[in-house]
Amino acid sequence: MEEKVLTRHFDAEGIVRLDAYRREGGYTAVEKALTKMKSAEVMEEVKKANLRGRGGAGFPAGVKWGFVPKDVPNPKYLCVNADEGEPGTFKDRYIMSRDPHLLIEGIIIASYAVGVHTAFIYIRGEYEAIAQKLEEAIAEASKKGYLGKNILGTGFDLEVVVHRGAGAYICGEETALLESLEGKRGHPRLKPPFPASIGLFQCPTVINNVETLSNVPWIIRNGADWFLKKGLPKDGGTRIFGVSGMVKKPGIYELPVGTNLRTIIFDYAGGMKEGKELKAVIPGGMSAPILKADEIDLPMDGDSVVGAGSMLGSAAIIVIDRDTPILDVLQVVAEFYAHESCGQCTPCRIGTSWIHKIVKRLAGGEGERGDIDAIIRLASNIKGKTLCPLGDAAALPILAICRKFRQELEGYLTHA
Ligand code: SF4
Repeated sequence: MEEKVLTRHFDAEGIVRLDAYRREGGYTAVEKALTKMKSAEVMEEVKKANLRGRGGAGFPAGVKWGFVPKDVPNPKYLCVNADEGEPGTFKDRYIMSRDPHLLIEGIIIASYAVGVHTAFIYIRGEYEAIAQKLEEAIAEASKKGYLGKNILGTGFDLEVVVHRGAGAYICGEETALLESLEGKRGHPRLKPPFPASIGLFQCPTVINNVETLSNVPWIIRNGADWFLKKGLPKDGGTRIFGVSGMVKKPGIYELPVGTNLRTIIFDYAGGMKEGKELKAVIPGGMSAPILKADEIDLPMDGDSVVGAGSMLGSAAIIVIDRDTPILDVLQVVAEFYAHESCGQCTPCRIGTSWIHKIVKRLAGGEGERGDIDAIIRLASNIKGKTLCPLGDAAALPILAICRKFRQELEGYLTHA
């Protein structure tokens, strides 16, 4: 059953305005956290809720906060990853444009828990209208005393800055995001050190996704046990699944973590469009390895999807019908990663463009014997051998397509 938590107020009249948000109980979680709870208690509650990151990696948010050293002379920062560059993903834009104060409330509580006094929302440049909406919401929250100096008379200060990126996919990678925020080229950093100890401007930094932080006010308002019951013991709450492709009702669906993939596609998203037959599904944004039609009886939680050989990622479900040539899918994936590779490391820089060249040749009717093996060899030489996760994000879906749909791809080998 649809379980509205994050999306509950999306249709409430005027909810983007602070007064309407407060009418629906907004900012009561901030009041509770700042006036009735110690920062360590807030962190413990989020840990107990098993809120796993909604951006892709699925790391528990409370544990991540706990990695930030407590007694350091340097400032600490919170960076909200609002880059949302993963193809197929469009959930964060809904949260930010339909209920901006929910995100701001989450930022305030997270900042209080970690001891942050400056937070940045790193938003992709294409989301200009949403960036403006966030700035308006920040101005309203500041005017009412929820941001700025001495919030609610508690002595806690927080400033929130909206920073526009230029739309590079790699800037969704947390360390590339930090570089970009510092005004440099968005090149990922070698880890360790991790941002929790050395992050923005060499200071301890927490980086959380928009959906992750938007869950925090609900956890504080209703408690970790309530949140856990909405999902699974190891993975609490709901997920906003974004469904696109050949379904009758594409869109976002907020459902308990662990909802079956087939149910999402056929019950919520209305099933296949125009009577088409299902061929394959990408379950977590384009970097997630593809699943065949007979692999979709699967609970949509992080561990189960990994167990099926893919990943939940951003929970962006892309549905592919039997009439779509798998070569078209491979071409989109290959071109995207060749274009978005930042070029820092050789396997990714050379490998992605080489794969793209071969795939283009296949699509141009010039496929040669050994091309599919060459793509598999190249992708295998990218996997696990690069500085940042983009290498794996490129290699894994390409390998899955080649291995699961090899017979269809061989039909393009005109020079075999
Ligand atoms: Fe850049 Fe690719 Fe290396 Fe990541 S894996 S640092 S995107 S070249």
